[in-house]
Amino acid sequence: MTEFKRDGSHLSSYPPVEKWDDWVELDPEAWPRRVEKHYQLVPTVCFNCESACGLLAYVDKATGQVTKFEGNPKHPASRGRLCAKGPATITQIHDPDRILYPMKRFGPRGGGKWTRTSWDEVLETFGARIRRAFQENRGEEVMYHVGRPGQDHFMDRTTQAWGIDGHNSHTNVCSSSARFGYLLWHYTDRPSPDHANARFILLLSAHLESGHYFNPHAQRIIEGKMAGAKLAVMDPRLSNTASMADYWMPSYPGTEAAVLLAMAMVILGENRFDATFVKNWTNWEELEVDGFSAKGQSFEALIEALKRHYAKFTPEFAEKESGVKAEVIVKTAREIATAGSRFASHLWRGSSSGNLGGWQTARALMLLHVLTGSVGTPGGHSLSAWNKFVPQPFSDPPPQKRWNELLYPLEWPLCTHEMSPLLPHFLKEGRGRLEAYFTRVFNPVWTYPDGFSWIEMLRDEERVGLHAALTPTWSETAWFADYVLPMGFSSERHDLMSQESYAGRWIGFRQPVLRVLQEREGKKFDYTYQANPGEVWEEDEFWINLSWAIDPDGSMGIRQWFESPYHPGRKLTLDEYYGWMFENSVPGLPEAAAKEGLKPLEYMRKYGAYEVTTDVYKLNEKPVAPAALSGSKVEANGVITKEGKAVGVMVGGEPVVGYNTPSRKLELFSKTMADWQWPEFALPEYYRSHIHHSAQTASMGKTGADIDQDFDARYMPLVEWPKDSSGEVYTLLPIFRLPHLIHTRSGNSKFLYEIAHKNPLWLNPVDAKKLGGIRTGDLLKVHTEIGFFVLHAWVTEGLTPGVVACSHHMGRWRLNKEDQLERMSSAWVNLQEVGKGQWKMRQISGVESYETSDPDTQRVWWSDAGVHQNLTFPVHPDPITGMHCWHQMVRVERAGADDRYGDIFVDTNLSFAVYQRWKALTRPAPGPGGLRRPLWIPRMRRPEGAAFYVSKKA
Ligand code: SF4
Repeated sequence: MTEFKRDGSHLSSYPPVEKWDDWVELDPEAWPRRVEKHYQLVPTVCFNCESACGLLAYVDKATGQVTKFEGNPKHPASRGRLCAKGPATITQIHDPDRILYPMKRFGPRGGGKWTRTSWDEVLETFGARIRRAFQENRGEEVMYHVGRPGQDHFMDRTTQAWGIDGHNSHTNVCSSSARFGYLLWHYTDRPSPDHANARFILLLSAHLESGHYFNPHAQRIIEGKMAGAKLAVMDPRLSNTASMADYWMPSYPGTEAAVLLAMAMVILGENRFDATFVKNWTNWEELEVDGFSAKGQSFEALIEALKRHYAKFTPEFAEKESGVKAEVIVKTAREIATAGSRFASHLWRGSSSGNLGGWQTARALMLLHVLTGSVGTPGGHSLSAWNKFVPQPFSDPPPQKRWNELLYPLEWPLCTHEMSPLLPHFLKEGRGRLEAYFTRVFNPVWTYPDGFSWIEMLRDEERVGLHAALTPTWSETAWFADYVLPMGFSSERHDLMSQESYAGRWIGFRQPVLRVLQEREGKKFDYTYQANPGEVWEEDEFWINLSWAIDPDGSMGIRQWFESPYHPGRKLTLDEYYGWMFENSVPGLPEAAAKEGLKPLEYMRKYGAYEVTTDVYKLNEKPVAPAALSGSKVEANGVITKEGKAVGVMVGGEPVVGYNTPSRKLELFSKTMADWQWPEFALPEYYRSHIHHSAQTASMGKTGADIDQDFDARYMPLVEWPKDSSGEVYTLLPIFRLPHLIHTRSGNSKFLYEIAHKNPLWLNPVDAKKLGGIRTGDLLKVHTEIGFFVLHAWVTEGLTPGVVACSHHMGRWRLNKEDQLERMSSAWVNLQEVGKGQWKMRQISGVESYETSDPDTQRVWWSDAGVHQNLTFPVHPDPITGMHCWHQMVRVERAGADDRYGDIFVDTNLSFAVYQRWKALTRPAPGPGGLRRPLWIPRMRRPEGAAFYVSKKA
C-alpha cells in the first residue's frame, strides 16, 4: 500500500495513524486521470479465522460505504499483514445474496420457505419459551452451540447468568485431541511456540499456510527461518508448508508419535538432554513403569528406566511404522538437541485430530521439549495461557449448579470439551431433548461427520423444539432452522479477542465500523443493527436483549447480569461493557490512553488493539506471592498448599508458582491416567491408530501371518467390508485446509471461490497404477463404512503412497435452485430419503453464473462446487479424549456406469452402529471418589464443585 503524494516524494508501507481520518488515494477506476479519493480508516478485527488479525476498513467519505480492507499496522500480532481471507471480507459484506433481515420459517421444517420477521418477535418468542423451560426446571433443554467463537468471555457470562450448563462447542471435531496431550503435561491445553527466536522448528502439518493462528505464526516462522532456523515438516502431504522445509518427513498417518519417540530416544541415548531441567521441572519422582518405581531412586536410575521403556523406538522401528527414513529421524533429532532451549514446534489438528489415540502425538512432541529444556524459553515452547490476555468484566455470574450429560456424559470422563458430534445419537438414544437450540456460526450438517444424522435430528420437532441459526451466511444447517438470524461480519460487530501469537500478550477490538463512524459524527443508535446493512445485528446486543426478554422484571436473577455497571436497573450498553473493562481490567491501557488525551474506550476505537506485555517467558519460575506463602505448608512431594489448595512448588529450594498440574510440575508421568483406568498411557506412548496398515489388512478378512506381529487390536474397532468388495483399501486424509477458505463463511466470497473450487482425490501414481491406470480427472468411487461418494482423481507425487487425501473445504450444496445458499460456491442437488435412514444425493447442476445487483455474479466462470465427503463419515469418538478421529479407512475403485460426479449415498443406521462400536471402547466414570471427571482438568464453563460428583456431594 502506498501513500499518494502529489510530488511522488514519499512512499510508506501503511497509512500513518495521524492520517486515518482523511487518507487520500488515487481512484484506480479513474485512471489515467489522477482523481483523489478521501477515506476514513477504522480499525476492526478479522472474523474469518481464529487468528484475530487487525483490519483497517477504508470508508469512502463520499459514499459512506466500506470499499476495502487492508491490514492494521498497529495490531501487535498481525502487524499490518493479512492472508487472502482478510481483504476478502469486502466481498462478504457486499454479497448480494447475504441475509439482511431476521427470517422465520413457514411450512414444514426443512421445507425452504421463509418470511421476514422482526427482532422484537424473535426476542418475544425465544424469551417466552426459555423462561418457561427455566421455570419448569428444564435448563438443560436450552443449548447454545458455537462453531466459530470469535470472542472471549461474553458467552461464558451469558450461559452462566442463565444458570444453565448449556454451552456446546465444535472443539471435538477440531483440536481437542492435541489439547489433551498438552494439558496432561502442563494443564494449559494449547502450545504457544516462539517461532521468531527459534533455531529449529518442527511443524506437524501445514502451519505456514493454514494452521491455527496462521498469519501471525506464519510471519514469525519465516522470521525465524531468515535468522537461520531450520524447518522440518512432518506431513504425508507435500503441502506449501512442506515445500518450504529443510526436512519434509512424509509420515504414514497415525505413526507420528513413533517418530517423535524415536527422536527422544536418540536424544536420551546420546545423553544430549537437559538433565537439570528434567530433574527440576518434571514429576519424575512419581514415575512407575514396567515394575520400576522412581520413589527413593536416583535421577540417573530414572533415566535408565526411561531408556529401557522406550528401547523399542529405534529409528529403524520408526521408519518401518512411518516410512520416514531412519537417517532423517536421527539427523533431525540431533538438530533438535543442538537447538536445545530454542526448539519450537506446532501441532494442532492433523495427526492428532485424524487418529484414534492422536493425543499421544502431542504428548510425545512435548517430551522432546522437556528433554531439550525448551519450555517457556526464548525460541521455545510456551503455554497459551501465558500469551493470551482476557480482561475481566465488571461482574461475573456464579458457576452453574447443573451438569449437562448431553455435553459431558459419563462415558468420556476425560474429554476436554463437549461431546458435540454425538448429539444426534444421544437424542436418538433418548438421553434428552432440546427446547431451544441456538447454532451460532455453526454448520454441523456440512462441517461435521455424519451430516444426515444431524438432518434427522434437526427436522424432528419433538427432539428439537425451536432452533435459531445465528449466522452471517446461509448454510446447510440454517435450512433446518425455525429462525435464521443474521449476524455481522468483521466490520459489523463488537468482540474482544486475544490469541497466543508470540511471546507477549495483546487484545484486539472488533467494532461495527459504520456505527462507530456515524457516532463520531454525533448520530445516536440504540442497537448496531440500525447502522449495519439491512437489520444485521451482533450477538452481544442480542444476548443482552434476550436475557431481558427471559427475565423482564428481574425476578429470575438473570437480568441483573445485563444491567449497566454505572446505572443499576438500566440495560447494559456495549460502550459500558467494553469501556469498563478497558478502564479497569487492562494493565497500562488507561495510562497509554491518557497520554493521548483519550479515554481507554476511545483509544481502543482509535487503534483497534493494545499490547499488554512483551517478552513473556518462564512464568512457572515466578516466586509465590508472600501473601500466598504465609500460612502455607510444603507437602512431601514439594507442592506448597494453603487451605487445601496448591499455590506453588519448591524447586531448587525456592517457592515458585510452577504449573497448574497436580504436581505443579510438567507431568512426565500422569497419575491421572493411571487413576482413571488408563494406566498403560501414564507415560507418553505410541499405539496404532484405527487406520494403521495392519488394520487395513485385517479389514479385508486377513489374519495371522498377514498381520504385522506387533499389531495391537485392543482399541481398534475394525471395519469389515462386505464380502464381495472390490477396489483397494487406503487411508483417507479428509481434513487438510485450503489456505484461502474457511469452512462455511467463505461461501459468499467471490474472490476466494474464484481462486479454488475443487476438491479432487489426491493419489500417488503408484496407487493410480494399482487401481488400473487411473489418470487425473477420472471418476472414482470412495466407500466409507456407511456409504460412498464419487469424485475426480488428481494423480500427484505430493502424497505418500497408500494414502489418499481430499480437502474438507468443498462440496457445498443447496436444495433450492436460487435461494438459501450462495450460488457461487454450491451445487444444486436432489436429496432423497430412499429408505429409513438411507440418503441419496445427486447434483442437478454445478455452479452457474447468475444475475444479481453485482455484475460479477454473471462472470462466474467455474462450474465445480466440489464433493461433500463429510456426509459419508460415521462418528469416531476417541475413547479417551472424545475427539472425532477424522481419518477414514476407505475402499477406492473406478466409478461405475451409473455413478455421477458428486453422488453420495449414506445409511445412518450403519452410522449409529459404528457409534455404538466406538462407545464400547470407553472406560466410563465414576472415577475416584465418585467423580465425573478429575477436578484439576479444565472444563468449559466449569460448574460448581458439587456437580462434579455422580453420587456424592462435595
Ligand atoms: S489469518 Fe487471515 S483469515 Fe485469519 S484472522 Fe488473519 S487475515 Fe483473517
